[in-house]
Amino acid sequence: MSAGAQAPKGTFDVLPADARARDRLERVVRGAFERAGYGRIETPAFEETELFERGVGEATDVVEKEMFTFEDRGGRSVSLRPEGTAPVCRAYVEHGMHKLAQPVKLFYWGPFFRYEAPQAGRYRQFHQFGAEAIGSDEPLVDAEVIMLFEEIIGELGVPGVTLRLSSLGSPELRAAYREELVSYLRSHESRLAGDVRERIDANPMRAFDSKDEGTREVMAGAPRLLERLDGDDAEHFDAVRGLLDSNGVSYEIDDTLVRGLDYYTRTVFELDCSQLGAQSQIGGGGRYDRLVEQLGGPATPAAGWAAGIERILLAMGADSEVSPEPRDAFVAATSDEQRRRALALVAELRNAGLSAEFDLGARGLKGQLKQADRIGARATVILEEDGSAQLRDMESGEQRAVEPGQLIEELGRNRS
Ligand code: AMP
Repeated sequence: MSAGAQAPKGTFDVLPADARARDRLERVVRGAFERAGYGRIETPAFEETELFERGVGEATDVVEKEMFTFEDRGGRSVSLRPEGTAPVCRAYVEHGMHKLAQPVKLFYWGPFFRYEAPQAGRYRQFHQFGAEAIGSDEPLVDAEVIMLFEEIIGELGVPGVTLRLSSLGSPELRAAYREELVSYLRSHESRLAGDVRERIDANPMRAFDSKDEGTREVMAGAPRLLERLDGDDAEHFDAVRGLLDSNGVSYEIDDTLVRGLDYYTRTVFELDCSQLGAQSQIGGGGRYDRLVEQLGGPATPAAGWAAGIERILLAMGADSEVSPEPRDAFVAATSDEQRRRALALVAELRNAGLSAEFDLGARGLKGQLKQADRIGARATVILEEDGSAQLRDMESGEQRAVEPGQLIEELGRNRS
């Protein structure tokens, strides 16, 4: 194919047959958020690069290697958004949302961009929906956001989903633990993979994510942040666990869980799906108590998560396929005059709330009946040259004369 005739690497088109599954997903997601009182927020597809550098963290893979960053024509550095939490917090600060009743409960749905090596379930433009509850440090908030995620996954019927949970404590505890981890890594440096070694100082926690054999062996004996959790942080984590337990939410404690973004504090979690291969994570999130302040707002604790739409659809496989809705009517016409009548009639039927199509392909009557079948029409209205009309039931094949004035009522009755 010639250049420019294919979607860019790592991107894809959503065709009408795929769009139905996405639409259904969106309806379920919206419904759950609406029932829980989360309001929709939309932020721009790109932001000043600095927002992500400051918010997500300069040494993270997402910011260091995966952002689509460019200079606009005015010489500003901007980046296509790789994630949603930093932009939502930017909007929270910009619009003074700390003056509203707290926590402010928001949800989003939209495209995100990361320059990653594409593979099944990993794209350069993908879509996420996510929840953010900003303005409370209550463990109840952590439990509510996790349960909301579980509710959506349950309603969609995504099979084989497990929840992994941990706590990263406060930034101060993390700083002390980080030093301990750095010295542990230094003392085992020779057995670590090159990329892990290079980032010992910049991002030692990422060593837990390494797939390298030697590194994994070293990490098996590494000190764990969860073991160092104390005081309010430990109490907070216990409270979150207690709430999940009492609500029957099952989870695994994963003391090596490190999210790829720097802003997390205390609770972190990820949801995996056993139906997926290498890219098994369908979503993740946690608490980010310092992010709003870091972006120039007042000290504001918060928690949230993001889910990958394509991964969820992949995990659902054939279950995500949605058949098109049947049409109430197809209008068949075989002369120019009757085709003009058909155009007016479908407009009238649609105005009355019925779904109706007519022939736009100059087919013969037989071809039109076939087309009516193809689109799943319950009935076909055949317009006759003398101004009368026949109504054909597409299931039984029965056909009878119908008064044009009675059509809306007759077709409406067919629905039930
Ligand atoms: P993260 O913000 O990295 O935790 O991402 C949240 C969710 O978005 C992940 O669990 C995935 O389901 C999805 N996701 C992240 N990156 C990609 C990608 N490149 N392609 C498709 N889905 C992704």
